Amino acid sequence: MTVAAKETRGFATEAKQLLHLMIHSLYSNKEIFMRELVSNASDAADKLRFEALENASLYEDDPNLRIRVSFNKDANTITIDDNGIGMSREEVIENLGTIAKSGTAQFMAKLSGDQKKDAQLIGQFGVGFYSAFIVADKVEVFTRRAGAAKDQAVHWTSTGEAEYTIEAAEKAARGTQVVLHLKKGEEDFADGWRLRSIIKKYSDHISLPIVMEKQHFGDEAEKKEPEDETINKATALWTRSRSDITDEEYKEFYKHISHDFADPLSWSHNRVEGKLDYTCLLYLPGRAPFDLYNREGARGLKLYVQRTFIMDQAEQFLPMYLRFIKGVVDSNDLSLNVSREILQKDPSVDNMKSALTKRVLDMLTKLAGDQEQYANFWKEFGQVLKEGPAEDYANKEKIAKLLRFSTTHTNSPEQDQSLDQYIERMKEGQEKIYYVVAENFNTAKNSPHLEVFRKKGIEVLLLTDRVDDWLMGHLMEYKEKSFQDVSKGALDLGAIETEEEKQSQKETEKQFESMVGRMKNALTEQVEDVRITHRLTDSPACLVVGEHDMGAQMRRLLESAGQKVPDAKPIIEINPEHPLVVKLDQEQDEDRFNDLAKVLFDQASLAEGGHLKDPAAYVQRLNKLLLELFN
Ligand code: ADP
Repeated sequence: MTVAAKETRGFATEAKQLLHLMIHSLYSNKEIFMRELVSNASDAADKLRFEALENASLYEDDPNLRIRVSFNKDANTITIDDNGIGMSREEVIENLGTIAKSGTAQFMAKLSGDQKKDAQLIGQFGVGFYSAFIVADKVEVFTRRAGAAKDQAVHWTSTGEAEYTIEAAEKAARGTQVVLHLKKGEEDFADGWRLRSIIKKYSDHISLPIVMEKQHFGDEAEKKEPEDETINKATALWTRSRSDITDEEYKEFYKHISHDFADPLSWSHNRVEGKLDYTCLLYLPGRAPFDLYNREGARGLKLYVQRTFIMDQAEQFLPMYLRFIKGVVDSNDLSLNVSREILQKDPSVDNMKSALTKRVLDMLTKLAGDQEQYANFWKEFGQVLKEGPAEDYANKEKIAKLLRFSTTHTNSPEQDQSLDQYIERMKEGQEKIYYVVAENFNTAKNSPHLEVFRKKGIEVLLLTDRVDDWLMGHLMEYKEKSFQDVSKGALDLGAIETEEEKQSQKETEKQFESMVGRMKNALTEQVEDVRITHRLTDSPACLVVGEHDMGAQMRRLLESAGQKVPDAKPIIEINPEHPLVVKLDQEQDEDRFNDLAKVLFDQASLAEGGHLKDPAAYVQRLNKLLLELFN
């Protein structure tokens, strides 16, 4: 195949936007270009090592993997050279001409045009290779894929504007060489000391040697032959002992494996020997990635076997609800030719998964001791953790302890109260943990179902997240206290109510028997049953669903997703103390009685955030009643 000598191509649209944004927003942290390029070079070496497990000839005659950094003061260039896997022409176009990254669409949609805000976002997204353009106004890439012929190399050039050129080239050594032509004003980077200190700062943890030519001074410089020296520690960070690793090193390693610009919230590093033999280094990120809710989004750990990189995103080592955890697991038990399929079947992987899950939950439990830090975590990942009890029955209690809620105790939308705190505040004789589910905080807070709880000073959890109904369906109980949806079933406050109260309720029920009968007739189409209630103090009526029926929020959610939901009518409960209900009881005119009963039903539905089946009829009825006021 002959390839066009030189071709000019446009960047994909999102790459163009991203480039522009990055160049103009990351100027305050320019040095990070080195971290990004070294990180790519290190990944390329990992990939070569992995492919060479099956095909050792890919090493050609150059088995010692390394990254070489050099500079030329006269030409104003910096060169980062690796002997890793390299790229074919197609790969160059795919990788350097587009942004082949999950979450790109979500990221682009979030951009506001406000440079300050967008700069933060771009750090969160990670810019990788393109960060070269922070300091360079022209970048050249020479690359040859391992195993390809010497004349099958590629030369890519761009000034970081709209276009790049690509042409065939010759390259004796396999791998990738990135040449940065420094911008005016950035010449200082072409300096041995500066580069050494940047590499030490950001890339010390890279397991591959990063070499530079040794610097000699004075008379020595004349005499000596050029000679290489290794700048970084060049051992895999996770193999070192915890006491030898500084927090800074842990943080930089996190940025390398996660492509996140921000620090992690915390980490857990452990060597496990015995029946299983592995090392893990797990990180809790400081913020959620763009694709957290994207089913195809990146998740899982980097898997190494005996220090050899095997695969990214090995998702078999952690459950879905911990998909935000980043890190490395290095096994001494698995075989070097392990595949995803084998991982799925290997029982030792399941054992590791339980152990790693426990590590993460322990790390979170520890973090929970620091309220402010934990609040940060909860804001970013709380919703995902709420998937836990459904997925991981064995750790249900542990996860439940980590959950945070907003409740009537604080009356704030902030989710910052634990179940343990709730239990501590439970009233004498209270056996259950009460909760209400609604579409938003105000609807939950003002739900008529809470009235009796407020009167008795009993705390209720206010649940408003989409996953909450699902969560509660699986939690069932915590510390032997069962959960009770306050809008489900007949209200039973157990020992909180006195015998006298129960007795007087029975009497009221008798007293209103005939009215309840009339209401059943008026609302046969709308409700399953009519009951006298004592759960209301201020509202005339509320709707309740059967103990085992689907909650109103879940129903609305499924309906809005176009799913067919089994028909189940609610029960209307009416407040015998309310003046409207008293008046209704005395109403002799059946038409008026019916109208008023229907209005009560519709209002009860509105109060809990429901939609009326026939809103116009409601307005008509209400207006008719209002007009009577003026007659
Ligand atoms: P990321 O590293 O986050 O995937 P980058 O923009 O940094 O994003 O790089 C895009 C892709 O280009 C990489 O995933 C990799 O496939 C390829 N690439 C970049 N640098 C190198 C390199 N030195 N050697 C081989 N491939 C590389």
